[in-house]
Amino acid sequence: MSIDIQPNADFIREFLLNLLKIPSPTGNTDMAIAFVEKSCHQLNLETYRTVKGSLVVKLPHEKSEFTIPRTLTGHVDTLGGMVKEVMGNGRLKLTPLGGYAPLSVVGEYCQVETAGGLLFSGTVLLNRQSVHVHGKDEIHQAASSMNNLEVRLDVHTSSQEETNMLGIAVGDFVSWDARTQYIETGFIKSRHLDDKAGVAAMLGAAEMMGRAHLKAVQPSYLYITTFEEVGHGGAAGIPIGTQELVAVDMGVIGEGQASNEFEVSICVKDNGGPYDLALRRRMVNLATAANIPFKLDVYVHYGSDGDAALFAGADVRVALIGPGVDSSHAYERTHLDAVLNTSRLIVEYLTNL
Ligand SMILES: [Zn+2]
Repeated sequence: MSIDIQPNADFIREFLLNLLKIPSPTGNTDMAIAFVEKSCHQLNLETYRTVKGSLVVKLPHEKSEFTIPRTLTGHVDTLGGMVKEVMGNGRLKLTPLGGYAPLSVVGEYCQVETAGGLLFSGTVLLNRQSVHVHGKDEIHQAASSMNNLEVRLDVHTSSQEETNMLGIAVGDFVSWDARTQYIETGFIKSRHLDDKAGVAAMLGAAEMMGRAHLKAVQPSYLYITTFEEVGHGGAAGIPIGTQELVAVDMGVIGEGQASNEFEVSICVKDNGGPYDLALRRRMVNLATAANIPFKLDVYVHYGSDGDAALFAGADVRVALIGPGVDSSHAYERTHLDAVLNTSRLIVEYLTNL
């Protein structure tokens, strides 16, 4: 049975744009989790936090005799950096949080958060950046190593002591300016659409089900994790009893990929191997029956919280669906349609046996 009621595009867009405004590099995600938590409470959904700081959301479900609990998981943690060293010239050497190419962040504005909660703005640059000093070839070479990334702070400092005096120290988190833009054509340009667009699709599904008084046919949960970008987000904390785990995460767009910015992507295989065949087929059948445009796709350089759960030893069936995101782990883009189609498929999944 397909559902006539549609996801609320305004709700999903506003939720996503607000979530994108909150810095949440892996390891420093409390503010983003608090925002999602508050949004869930506004939808009258019950939540609890795991020991590791992730969020579990309980969805209303019908009572049934035989239960096969289902969990959908998405992550609010993002790529970012951490201060590795305060250098002699007062600038900051970075160690990366998550996997990305140096070139994808060179020139990006950033924010340093000190242990005391102070915020400083800066710019991510190569340690050999000025073409008038180093020439093009040397700059090209510098861009090949994460080791050459540094933060130029927007404060008067030219020594390690001066920077330390500001309260900035090794271990401080550095977040990128997401530079979020919503365009009237429906495109959303931003960093960190991976996986905030996925989380928006999950909340959009919950909002739609609440508005339409739809209940899940099985005990069902949303699990918002906080360490996906470093590989162990979904490794623990999955609601007890879960037998089906659907990771809601970005679809890969690029040369040779089937995914796009408008449809929901259903991943059949990534670095962790093939996803569960029966669950994948169910996703395809549900999307087909409800006229939800989708693409099956293989992601070659990709892991998900579904993989993390499997490698940690969870005995669950795992699928992966999500909005296609262009230029992933760089300056990303998707279209609101991809997020809406992901929400639709989530609702179909939750409301069908
Ligand atoms: Zn992701």
